[in-house]
Amino acid sequence: MNRKFLVVSVLCLAALGAVPLFTHNPYYIHLIATVMIYAILLFGLDIVVGYTGQVSLGHAGLFGIGAYTTGVLFMKLSAPLWLILPASIAVTAGFGALLALPALRVTGPYLAMVTLAFGTIIQILINEMDFLTEGPLGIKIPKPSVAGYQITESDFYWMVFTLMLLSLIVAHRILKSQFGRAFEALRGSPVASDCMGVSVYRYKVYAFVISAGFAGLAGSLYAYSEQYISPNTYNFELTVLFLLAVIMGGRKTRTGALLGATVVVMLPQLLDDLDSFRIVASALAVLITVGAIIGVAKKMVSPKTMAIPVGGVIALAGFSFWLDSITDWRLSIFGLMILFVVYYLPDGIVGFVRNLLNFRKGGRATRSASVVVESGKDAVVVAASAGEASLLVAKGVVMQFGGLKAINQVDLLVKRGTIHGLIGPNGSGKSTIMNVLTGIYVPTAGSIEFSGHSVVGRTSSDIALSGIARTFQNVQLFGEMTALQNIQVGLHHTFDSNIVDVSLHTPRYKREELAAIDRGMGLLRFVGLEALALEEARNLPYGKQRLLEIARALALDPQLLLLDEPAAGLTAPDIKELISIICKIRDHGITVILIEHHMDVVMSICDTVSVLDFGQKIAEGRPTEVQANEKVIEAYLGGQTA
Ligand code: ADP
Ligand code: MG
Repeated sequence: MNRKFLVVSVLCLAALGAVPLFTHNPYYIHLIATVMIYAILLFGLDIVVGYTGQVSLGHAGLFGIGAYTTGVLFMKLSAPLWLILPASIAVTAGFGALLALPALRVTGPYLAMVTLAFGTIIQILINEMDFLTEGPLGIKIPKPSVAGYQITESDFYWMVFTLMLLSLIVAHRILKSQFGRAFEALRGSPVASDCMGVSVYRYKVYAFVISAGFAGLAGSLYAYSEQYISPNTYNFELTVLFLLAVIMGGRKTRTGALLGATVVVMLPQLLDDLDSFRIVASALAVLITVGAIIGVAKKMVSPKTMAIPVGGVIALAGFSFWLDSITDWRLSIFGLMILFVVYYLPDGIVGFVRNLLNFRKGGRATRSASVVVESGKDAVVVAASAGEASLLVAKGVVMQFGGLKAINQVDLLVKRGTIHGLIGPNGSGKSTIMNVLTGIYVPTAGSIEFSGHSVVGRTSSDIALSGIARTFQNVQLFGEMTALQNIQVGLHHTFDSNIVDVSLHTPRYKREELAAIDRGMGLLRFVGLEALALEEARNLPYGKQRLLEIARALALDPQLLLLDEPAAGLTAPDIKELISIICKIRDHGITVILIEHHMDVVMSICDTVSVLDFGQKIAEGRPTEVQANEKVIEAYLGGQTA
């Protein structure tokens, strides 16, 4: 982490903790405590929204579950604080698993609908189950007492502050660990996550459960803070506010969550009172207009780009004076703000400031030196090679899409330690074979045995972990993650540490994380990318992206590596390098299946070549034999035999 940033954050947090020393005004203390409570929820919501990229409109419902678990446990059982807090977290986390179920089936707008329904149902249930929740009457909860000592307002503030700090640390540690990388990976490319042995299914559920745990803690503290809970608090408006906070603060940052929480706690206060809304809207209009005029004068921005925001804020200011009452307009104003933020602040306030200061996340250049761990060890582990035995045996494989047989009765036998070429014209079914081998499609008929075990019907992540790694014809990297992090996702299988290890930074976790950095750097060196370790994958040139994908696949310690057109789009020198890398991989005992259009690559390194045409295998043998085969020449006539 950037040192300056760290110092500033610690100072800000210390100031936050010291608030009750400077003011005894209960209104302010309560307001800031609420900000911190919301921040705890937002740390969790950001895991789902920012990291895994799923939409959740159900978090107000989860917040309500946390609050009501606390309320009910207190009212019915007079349970003590030390029991109520963990219980609220656990119960809400359980509901989080329930909320994850739809996320496993649908994404995007459909998921938004389903999670919205979840939130609504929770609110209705709280309202209707009055035998448990007292229904619309609500529940009164006094400030807790600990061991007979009644907690005061400032004590409670410090309790919230401490728990917020703990949540911040735990959330941060989880997100920087293999769990966080898994969450980010499934946003970047679900297919690639699965093929790296990171089960999308499992990690989506984890993300929702962990996220719900934070919502549960926040809900519980909220109940104590307000000292009264009723069902209509946990409504649609709150859920929209939470989302607004994550997006406005900036996703994937804890600072953003705190900023977002501040904004959304202040916002309803502001929108409750027409006069203050008028003042703020006018101030905003003046500020943005003056800013735009200066910007245009200094030629920093074009008048065209500033026209809409300036017009917008002036209209908002005018609108605020036209209004008689604000209550009916609150939701519309929130909605407009979301639109504005999504359009003009796509990276939130934190992202905006970061761009302005132009300090890029983490200070890459300085950090790379400390990450590079010199190791004499070779990164590629020698896979067990057992003579000439066959590693992969596929028999009579058929893959049918509707009426089309993309592969039709294909037999394939791949010997251990060889490079097996797979060629054929476009659309002949090569990529489909790889998709069938890696569990992305389940074949319509036929058997596939890998290392003596059937792969048919198993999940992609399961197959990946059993030793088949792959790259994709259209590169599937985790774009927002660095090159090193991409490889670390491939190394996910080397981690045994659990959430507790990660949160406490136990020696086991530290050892595994260091080893993963070490191996990751080794693999980057293997493909000549170590200088780009801390560059985001999406910023790499295309050829380097392909090499990174190979390194990531090797991180799985595969016995079999599937390469789908690795030379596509590469320059001649890059292709040379690629050939030497593939040969080195084979020399390490890893078997390779290579789909390639560049005939010179295929002819120079393959031990055996199979030729597909219209989903059928038309020839097989040594490269020279295949090259001379009449059927092959015919299939390629006018094709791209280089
Ligand atoms: P290749 O990699 O040899 O160029 P593919 O394996 O990608 O060819 O495709 C083989 C055929 O299968 C093509 O006709 C393609 O349109 C079809 N195909 C591949 N995947 C699907 C799918 N998911 N649904 C329908 N058709 C598909
Ligand atoms: Mg293909």
